[in-house]
Order: sequence, then C-alpha cells, then structure tokens
Amino acid sequence: MLKLVRVDDVKCCLDDLHIERFIELAKEVLSANAVNTPLVVNKDGNVVFGHEVCLTLKKLGVRYLPVTDDVVDRVSISLEVLGFFNDVAPNAMKVFRSTEELLYGNWPTPLVLLKNLSNTSKRVWVKLEGFNPFSMSVKDRIGWYMLKKALEKYGSKIPRLLVEATSTNTGLALASMCAIYGLKLLTYIPSTVSKTGELLLKVFGADVVRSDKPLTVDLIEGVEGVAKELDALHLNQFYNDANFEVHLRYTAKELELQLREVGMVPKAIVGGLGTSGHMSAIALYFKSRFRGIKVYGTVPAVGTSIQGIRRVESGMKWVHMVELDGVVDVYLEEAVSSVLELARREGILVGLSSGAVYAAYKKITDEVGDGDYILIFPDHGFKYVEQLMKYL
Ligand code: PLP
Repeated sequence: MLKLVRVDDVKCCLDDLHIERFIELAKEVLSANAVNTPLVVNKDGNVVFGHEVCLTLKKLGVRYLPVTDDVVDRVSISLEVLGFFNDVAPNAMKVFRSTEELLYGNWPTPLVLLKNLSNTSKRVWVKLEGFNPFSMSVKDRIGWYMLKKALEKYGSKIPRLLVEATSTNTGLALASMCAIYGLKLLTYIPSTVSKTGELLLKVFGADVVRSDKPLTVDLIEGVEGVAKELDALHLNQFYNDANFEVHLRYTAKELELQLREVGMVPKAIVGGLGTSGHMSAIALYFKSRFRGIKVYGTVPAVGTSIQGIRRVESGMKWVHMVELDGVVDVYLEEAVSSVLELARREGILVGLSSGAVYAAYKKITDEVGDGDYILIFPDHGFKYVEQLMKYL
C-alpha cells in the first residue's frame, strides 16, 4: 500500500550520493515536480528499493516520503504533497528563540522591485542577501548549513577549531556560528580583503592570517594542510557540497515562492560567481522548473579584482555541473559606479559584487530582451566604504 511517511522515519542506507548523480536525480524530480516511483521499505522503515531517490528527496528538503511495502508501478506524487515547500515558512511576527533561528527563521530574504531603474518593458527585481543577520551576506546560509552538517556528523566530538579561507563573508558567517556553538575560528584572507573585513572578523573573535596569495587553489590547499597540522576542521566552502545544497533547498526554493506571490516568470536571473555555490544551485533549480529562463554569472574582468567574485578559471566546482547561459566580465570601476547608482537612485547600499551583478545586467539586457529580471545581490555595502571612499 502506498503511503506518506515523515522523512525522519525512513532510513535510506546510503551515507551520501556523488554530487553529479545527485544533480542528475534532482533535475529529474524538480522538472517533473513529482516523484514517479515510491520507495520500497521493509517493516523496520529501512529502504530496500530507491536509496538514491530517498537521499535526493531528503537533500531537497521534503517533509514526507512516498513509501510502499511492495514494488508499485509508476505513480505520480507531486512535490507539494510531499511538503517540498514547507522549509520556507515565513515568521510574520519575527519572534525568534535564538540567534541561529534569526537566520533560518527569517527567510526568505527580500525580493524588491527597483522602480526607478525599471521601465514598462524591463523590470529589475533584486534579491537582497544582505538581509541575512551575521555577515549581512548570502554566506550566512552556507556557514549555517556546513556547520549544521558537520555537527550532525561529529556530534560532541566536533573539533573545537575551524580553519577556513575566505574573502570575509564566509568567515563572518562561520565566526557567528562558532560564537553560538562555543567553537574557535582561524581564517585565511587573501591580500585583496579590506581592512574593514579583517577588523570585523576580529570583532567576532576569529583569528586572521592575511595571505599574500589571491583566493585560488593554492591558498585553499595551504589551509587544508594547516587544518591537518592543527587537528582542526576545514569545512572548505569551495568543495563542500553543503554549500550547493543549501541554496537548492532554501535560496532557490524561496525565490520560486516569491515569484508565485507576484505571478512572475522571469526572463533571466543574474548573480555573482565566487565558489559558484548559489548561482549553480539557482541555475539547476530554475532551468529544471521553468523552460526558457536564462541564468548568467558575473565575474571580474581579467586584471580586475572585485571582492567576493572570481574568474571561473581560478577553480570552481559546481558551475561545471550545471548549465549557464553566459558569464559576464565586469571591471571594478563598473561595479563601483553601479553601487553608487543603486544608492543614489534607489536608496540601497549594496556590496561591490552586487554592483558587478547590476553592471552585468546592463550589459546583457539589450540582447536578452524585455521582461522581468532577477538580480541576486550577495551582500550589504557597509563593508566597502573604504574602497568607495576614493570614488566620492
Ligand atoms: N559576492 C560576495 C560579496 C561574496 O562574498 C561571495 C562569496 O564569497 C560571492 C559574491 C559569490 O558567492 P558564491 O560563493 O556562492 O559563488
């Protein structure tokens, strides 16, 4: 008999799934908006058929799994019925029982129409990740999820020291999480990070080592070595699939609900590429669920440095596993003038990579055409006043 069972009551006997296989199965489930084959479980709740689908659905964040005690031919159970959207449950009164809950309980981050920068044929909507409470950036999501997964794995045996390479935001997010859990954080920041970024990390109690290297594979491998020497935990945002998964399970999903709220299917989504975590997940999600949506990444042009985003060839994991419609090069001066334009015409202060994303939008929009555009703005602008100073 087919029934729906709470996820925690079903044990799939796989520890993990290779990321490329997970992406393949997630694509199937997301584009069908349904599960077509129930899981077969024995009387103890152990899956005997459908291990991979079981794990895929758990990672995508459903509340219930469709199970049977015997093989059933194809049936279609929609994701809504499985509680796929229950993860996103806005808290209207904004009362939170911990600072950790202030993070995940306050999602979705706002989706805002930029009225002065829109016209009748092209509307610009921005998703303001700067409304996350710790680093005031998109990186709160991964700091929270990577540590949550590590706590599930290690329990009370979790190493007391974390080591991470960061261009500030992941460091700040992890520093907040370490404060909450009584852990210690050692960060390695590249030469390009501002003094403000370094000071903020120290305010949150993190130790900071400034490297003379940019944020490339070299620096990350060095940090891996340090973690081994110190018996520390290197969560490694560049390779840890929790980075990609949290955006698939929360960021992309909440954006779909926000689009439903205004009855909009966007022409294109534009965002920045650093580790490529959030834009790879958004590309996989929206391209699986909506035919024709275009997704673009933004990177610094050759010879330019823009904090938070990097050239694809400097080493990224997930962007190579999903489909993007293009990667747009932006110069620092274009990012800065876009930040000033956003502040002066719309009254919002965003970071330099958000400025770069807006500059990328301006570069592609004539070719992509009329419609609604979603720009993912990774962080708030308060950290960048030092860099902005010389342009005022
Ligand atoms: N913008 C800023 C300010 C960031 O801090 C980051 C990541 O560090 C990004 C963009 C890129 O995000 P992702 O690592 O998900 O590609």
